[in-house]
Amino acid sequence: MGQSGQSFAAVASIGGPPRRVTRFLCDEMLGRLARYLRAAGYDTALAAGGLPDSVWIGLAQREARLLLTCDRSLGQGRNAAGLVLELAQGDLDRQAEALSRHCQVDWLWRPFSRCLVDNTLLRQADASECPSDIPLRDPGSLCICPQCGRLYWAGSHYRRMKNRLRAWRQR
Ligand SMILES: [Zn+2]
Repeated sequence: MGQSGQSFAAVASIGGPPRRVTRFLCDEMLGRLARYLRAAGYDTALAAGGLPDSVWIGLAQREARLLLTCDRSLGQGRNAAGLVLELAQGDLDRQAEALSRHCQVDWLWRPFSRCLVDNTLLRQADASECPSDIPLRDPGSLCICPQCGRLYWAGSHYRRMKNRLRAWRQR
C-alpha cells in the first residue's frame, strides 16, 4: 500500500531535507512508538533484540524501511548510512517529535488501519463478529485483524491514542 513513488532513495536522505517515509523498523526499545506508528497507518515492523547489526541493516535495506533504534552503535556501522535514525530512550512525545523532524510523518495518515500488535491491515467487521459486551456506538467503526482476531473500535483507548496523534500532528 502506498509504496508507489516512494523511492528508497527518499528514505536514504536522513540529514537532508525532510522526506516522506512509509515503512519503519523499530527495535524492541521502541515498542510504544511502533504501536503509534501503526495507529497512524504506517507499516511498522518490530524486531526483537539480540540480532547482529548486519541483520538489522539487511532487513531495513531489503524491505525499504527506516530503522529506528535506541542503540547508538547501530547507526555507526559502515552500511548504516541513511538507513538508521537513532532516538533517545524513554519519552514517547520526544521520540515522535524527533522522528517528525527527520521525515514527514503524518500522524493521522491512515488512522487505525493496522493492528497495533502485529501490523496487519485491518478489515471492517460485521455486527455478528461483535461480542455483546462491547459498547459499540458506531457499528461501522468496528474492525478486525485477520491475523490475530483482535477487534478494534472507537472506544476510550482509541480516543486517547487519536488525541495524542492529533497533538503530534499539530506541532
Ligand atoms: Zn493482529
